[in-house]
Amino acid sequence: MKRSKKLKLTNTAKTILSMLIIIIVLIALSFHHKDKIVEEVHEIKEEDNYTLKIDYPVISNEDINEEITKYITDKKEEFLSIAEKLEEVTQTKLDLSITYTQTDMFDYEVLNINVYSYTGGAHYNQENKSYYFDPKTGKEIDLTAFLEPDKFSELANLAYYNTIKYYEDNDLEYDEAWIKEGTSATTKNYSHFNFTEDSLELTFDPYQVGPYSDGEIKISIPQEKLEGIVKEEYLHIEKKESNVKTPPKRDLSEFAGKRLLAFTFDDGPSDGPTNKLLDNLDKYNARVTFFVLGSRVNTYRDTLIRAYEMGNQIGSHTYSHLNLYQLSDYDIMKEINNTNDAIANIIGIRPDKLRAPYGNTNDHIKELSNMYSILWNVDTEDWRYKDAEKIKEYIITHARDGAIILLHDIYSTSVEGALLAMEELQDEYVFVTIDEMVELKGVTLDKKKSYFNF
Ligand code: ZN
Repeated sequence: MKRSKKLKLTNTAKTILSMLIIIIVLIALSFHHKDKIVEEVHEIKEEDNYTLKIDYPVISNEDINEEITKYITDKKEEFLSIAEKLEEVTQTKLDLSITYTQTDMFDYEVLNINVYSYTGGAHYNQENKSYYFDPKTGKEIDLTAFLEPDKFSELANLAYYNTIKYYEDNDLEYDEAWIKEGTSATTKNYSHFNFTEDSLELTFDPYQVGPYSDGEIKISIPQEKLEGIVKEEYLHIEKKESNVKTPPKRDLSEFAGKRLLAFTFDDGPSDGPTNKLLDNLDKYNARVTFFVLGSRVNTYRDTLIRAYEMGNQIGSHTYSHLNLYQLSDYDIMKEINNTNDAIANIIGIRPDKLRAPYGNTNDHIKELSNMYSILWNVDTEDWRYKDAEKIKEYIITHARDGAIILLHDIYSTSVEGALLAMEELQDEYVFVTIDEMVELKGVTLDKKKSYFNF
């Protein structure tokens, strides 16, 4: 009895054992599949005047291996030549430490080589080198693999802006030209990057965007600013919960073939005039576009939300209404980015239409803004006349299909003039937002152009 019991147990053990072996083999196989490191190279040395410890991987890609080996050999020789010249043995030994990390980035692999060298003085020098490659093809890749086509210069603009912001936020001196050069759209300038949960991290080598003493500079670009620049699959933007209702989209088919007018209102929002306009739009089945100032949206937050929820369009008129021609690139981007941030914080949507103050825009500003430039072809000069009748007459005489009318919703005379014009024109025209006009006219917008009418 005892024997057979023992035998039974052994059988069970055998089954368990063979299952374990299968599991182990499977795990080993899956690791083997993932792990692209063929072997590791270790080197340790302790001499009288220096210590050295090097670990680096040999990976399955020969081209990258060659590069890594050359990089590490160069670093080592550089260090040893310093160490050998140093005849006196000092109390603190010189040291070279090379380590590496290997991580996944979506479908790609990242290998970071970290070089720390101490050759005297107070601190270690640190230098990193990153290799990005596709494990399927073995090919090396760079940041452009993660970008939409032709968007590198737009990313470079953002990097330039965020680098200056980094210096300003930390109260450090900086050199705009140096930063511009170090963030220009070359793959060499973007040799260290990393995607986090909510941003793209860029690391600039010492000396790249400022003096060596500034060290390595790491900046983060929030991913909501990367929409349309970084490929969608590498962004995981979750729309923030907000109490603001998504506006109803109008059925544009009922407007097909009709004559269209886009009323646009700059310099707001305001309390009285903007709300008076909003009170009356339904009467004329009208929706309009507001090019708001970032500096005003928090003060008139409720008005902005009301305008948006009704289905009016919110565009940007920059933050402080400065003449963009007079500003540095950084200040131009600050005017634009701060406005988009302020609007997005309230309504949850970043505007993509920009009306530069005074219509002062050019190719360079358009490129920096990465927005669609919307100007006008009917200028009521409402700010000059402040006369509702005159404004109404001007609109009526200049109205034509596809026109963009410029008004300002900080003057009640402008709003009154617009409403009077709508009253008279309502049988001949449909009053639409810029986006509705674009859709109805079947236009594909181009960020390099300015639109005066459609
Ligand atoms: Zn203005």
